[in-house]
Amino acid sequence: MKNIWQYEEETMSLDDLKQFQLERLQSTLNRVSENVDFYKRKFKDAGIDVAKIKSLEDIKHLPFTTKQDLRDNYPYGMFAVPLKDIVRIHSSSGTTGKPTVVGYTKRDLETWKNLVARIMVAGGVSANDIVHIAFSYGLFTGGFGLHYGAEHIGASVIPVSSGNTKRQIMIMQDYRSSVLVCTPSYALHIAETLENEGLSRNDIFLKYALLGSEPWGEKIRSEIENKLGVSATDNYGLSEIIGPGVSGECQCKNGLHINEDHFYAEVINPDTCEVLPEGEKGELVLTTLTKEAMPLIRYRTRDITRLFRDKCPCGRTFIKMEKPSGRTDDMLIINGVNVFPSQVEEVFKEFDQATPHYIIIVKKKGHLDMMEIQLEISENLFFDEMKKQRTLLEKMHERMFSVLGIKPKIKFVEPKTIERFEGKAKRVIDERQF
Ligand SMILES: [Zn+2]
Repeated sequence: MKNIWQYEEETMSLDDLKQFQLERLQSTLNRVSENVDFYKRKFKDAGIDVAKIKSLEDIKHLPFTTKQDLRDNYPYGMFAVPLKDIVRIHSSSGTTGKPTVVGYTKRDLETWKNLVARIMVAGGVSANDIVHIAFSYGLFTGGFGLHYGAEHIGASVIPVSSGNTKRQIMIMQDYRSSVLVCTPSYALHIAETLENEGLSRNDIFLKYALLGSEPWGEKIRSEIENKLGVSATDNYGLSEIIGPGVSGECQCKNGLHINEDHFYAEVINPDTCEVLPEGEKGELVLTTLTKEAMPLIRYRTRDITRLFRDKCPCGRTFIKMEKPSGRTDDMLIINGVNVFPSQVEEVFKEFDQATPHYIIIVKKKGHLDMMEIQLEISENLFFDEMKKQRTLLEKMHERMFSVLGIKPKIKFVEPKTIERFEGKAKRVIDERQF
């Protein structure tokens, strides 16, 4: 069938799938307990003998892996293969200054492009399409992930990368882009720029939009679909697990099919860590079943969702997850980039002039996210000459950009203007609506 990329896998019966998952889980457990010191130790401490994992339900006895674990093993401590077998390195934002590192073997890259091809085909893309990728290319997995998946289908790929919206529109018109890949907020921003240029959906050739990396609702979907003349689908992924390609919506647009033959999904109660039955909302936990370079066991994604298995008219049998509806930690998603407030704090600590009093305000400017950080500075600096203030501001901007990957607005405020808290300080005011 032409609208399912890997028909046999994606329409597998539940019995076959479970058998497949169990075999792959056992082989992954064997590999990590032999080759990754972190898991060797962790299983030993928990008294786990991986040979005794005989069913998928047994997975609940295994310990979780967290972002902190990746950080503690920075940079290559989580790799299960020698560096010579790693052919690609990406990273994702860490909770503090250092990002976390992820690696891929040759076979991991093969798997990855097939998984992305699956979600792209599910979103409507075919070999006849011209795919316009407006994700930034670099250490983050979005750009390259979608790029290789689209090429693998046989589509023509334009690696436009992010920014310069007018130029994006020119390319869309001239090269006749038929698929747009970016964040939902950037798709809306393109639509708005189109209007400001006196153009409409009739002046471009888009048919499909594959959008991801940030939360969005049905209202935003219909606005994008109307203004750009596309069918818009959501897709989900995280660098730690593989990048984009973990799950994606089909044309039924009712939940994201998880590529279950490669990832085992659970939903847990984030407070008690107990596994919740299908249909209940909680934190998504993923175990990689085929990753060679960096297999992860029960990785806590911090994304809140629920799982459900319905008989989807598209023919795919894989379980679905609802669009993630929030986080169990304080991570912010700013125009698709993950930012932790603790990273901001780390940067300020590098500057003597910064006080510990700051607040992060996130709002929408047009359709794009805007992050403003207000920082109290010492009294003498505040009343000091403007030139000194400007130099300091420039240095802070530069550091923020290199640590966060985005350019927040930083504003100095007078001492004692930011509200004080007796308990845990409120660091973030998020005024956005999804
Ligand atoms: Zn479906």
